[in-house]
Amino acid sequence: MGQAQRPLAQEVEGFLANRPRAVRWLEWAAGRRYRVAAFPDRARPVVVIASRDRTPARADQVAHTIEHDWSEAPPQCHDAYEEILEKAPGLIVVQLRRKNVCGCLGHRHVIVKELPFSEPHEAFGGAAVGEMDIAYERVVSWLAQPLMDTALDTQFIAGSRRKEFLDQQLRFRLLSILLHETHHMVAPQAPEDVVRERSLTFYREALANYVETARATMSFTIDRSFSRLGKE
Ligand SMILES: [Zn+2]
Repeated sequence: MGQAQRPLAQEVEGFLANRPRAVRWLEWAAGRRYRVAAFPDRARPVVVIASRDRTPARADQVAHTIEHDWSEAPPQCHDAYEEILEKAPGLIVVQLRRKNVCGCLGHRHVIVKELPFSEPHEAFGGAAVGEMDIAYERVVSWLAQPLMDTALDTQFIAGSRRKEFLDQQLRFRLLSILLHETHHMVAPQAPEDVVRERSLTFYREALANYVETARATMSFTIDRSFSRLGKE
């Protein structure tokens, strides 16, 4: 009987950890970090977040959106990307940068440049490797849906949940860009407006769903702050 195969995410983590010590040390000293993230409901694609800044906070946000926020998105969001994720390379490397020279939010790469993944390895279990970059600071300042973003934001100003909302909003932006670039990988001929429409719809619906759920539990907080104002 064959041994049960380890999930690809674990294989990739093992592969990264088992590279020669000198290689890992040089990488670490140069501030390069790899963080492996998997969708909770599917074995593939596995995402490797490659970052060059020493603080893990940004890479953690990308990982969190794959590992948690994806499940929170409503079913139509999952349906819209089911086929794309099914056809996507089994391993997706995301180079997380602060900015891009060209000012774009992200790109897919034709050739994998991130060294540990630029050549096939048995740990990848035959999975194809795709690569993209995401410009983190561009995403932070991006108004994905200007009217909607502003309208939702004002609902949270009164409440203590505003920070939580802004973090969630940023993570859904990161997720929608990841899905957008994955769509390009799977369908290189698809026109930009088709690809963009799908990722913006994902963002809009995921965020609207979050707000609806949050509002149900938030009214209490707002009511209290209003009544306190009344007394003073
Ligand atoms: Zn695009």
